[in-house]
Amino acid sequence: MANSDSWQEYRRRRNLSLFALVGYVPFVGVVAIISLWLIGTAIPAFIAAIAWMVFALVAGNWFIRFRCPRCGEPFFADSKWWGYNTFARRCLHCKLPINAPTAGSDSTTVPANNV
Ligand SMILES: [Zn+2]
Repeated sequence: MANSDSWQEYRRRRNLSLFALVGYVPFVGVVAIISLWLIGTAIPAFIAAIAWMVFALVAGNWFIRFRCPRCGEPFFADSKWWGYNTFARRCLHCKLPINAPTAGSDSTTVPANNV
């Protein structure tokens, strides 16, 4: 996997999990307002809330399972049995900083295969 793709994948996962976190209240609120206005009950809002919680759970898990592009270990987990540190700015295994080029896949250098 190319280096830029790895960090692009990291950003995709991070952004989706942030969207799942921040978007919960506005989404459920809008569904509640619309369903109260149209059919006079908030039951669709409860269904939407549960569905969004499942979405947030899946998105969050997808994010914390991001693997380090250099060592291949879970970037935010230092143990299978202990918690995750999603605020880590470096891989908890090989200390690779976020957005750092990895060996052999540096996208800033020109490939030397045309010699
Ligand atoms: Zn690593």
